[in-house]
Amino acid sequence: MNRKQTNRSASHSPLTAPATRMSERLRLVPTGSVSDPVWLVQEKISGYLLATLSRQNLQSPAGLVCVQRHDPWVHSDALNEAIELLDVAPPLQHQTQAQTPEAALSQKKVRHLWADLDIDPAMVKAPLVPESCRLQYGGSDCFGRPFLLHPLALAAWNRMQQTAAADGVSLSVVSAFRSFAYQAGLIQRKRCAGQGLPDILRVNAAPGTSEHHSGMALDLHCPDEPGAPAPLEEAFEHTRAFAWLSAHGSEHGFSLSYPRDNPHGMIYEPWHWCYKGSAD
Ligand SMILES: [Zn+2]
Repeated sequence: MNRKQTNRSASHSPLTAPATRMSERLRLVPTGSVSDPVWLVQEKISGYLLATLSRQNLQSPAGLVCVQRHDPWVHSDALNEAIELLDVAPPLQHQTQAQTPEAALSQKKVRHLWADLDIDPAMVKAPLVPESCRLQYGGSDCFGRPFLLHPLALAAWNRMQQTAAADGVSLSVVSAFRSFAYQAGLIQRKRCAGQGLPDILRVNAAPGTSEHHSGMALDLHCPDEPGAPAPLEEAFEHTRAFAWLSAHGSEHGFSLSYPRDNPHGMIYEPWHWCYKGSAD
């Protein structure tokens, strides 16, 4: 019996192991309901969603759904690692009670990321935004990547997208939830390409301060609209999609976070819409 088979059979044993096992590279994010829990398998460093796991259906292929396209991940040791994590995960109700947004907001973690990126705290005017612990798989973005949103924002987004479609306006997601580490990676790549930090921070919020950490913010695009610009270009303001969002976004709880000359010091971002409904 190889290691994978051993781990699969072990996954059906009673949950007697203490929930102390940690993984360097993976975290399980609870979602779904207590009676039908689903766990999102997330890569810690990149914030990428790799797969969904369901304990009830682990014996069937449907129990593990790989959501990364062209991903050999399901055949790797990471699969075993995720199943081992699931084996020792506490019941979902305990997990969600223990994980509050406040617990997720680690100032120490943010300061470490800033130090790594040479970001002087005096440069950062925006308040810290906790990484949401309540995330739900929302489908695929316009690049075919899976995206996550807070369940409230996801419900509002689904309603808004359907209403827009009924009006003949096609909306797609470019980017949704982003972890602190993912945001740091975006900035690090630009620094490696030679961009100066002040210029980068006018475009990318410092890790820990992006609205995308909340799971409430969306970068939107309209790839099906004739003549649409590339994603995340200011010319998005001339699309029918932007006109529709400006007229109807607020009816669904979404508002433009960074208009021209915004007080946050960010560039004009006509594509960035944030759900401002109250999160429970
Ligand atoms: Zn954005």
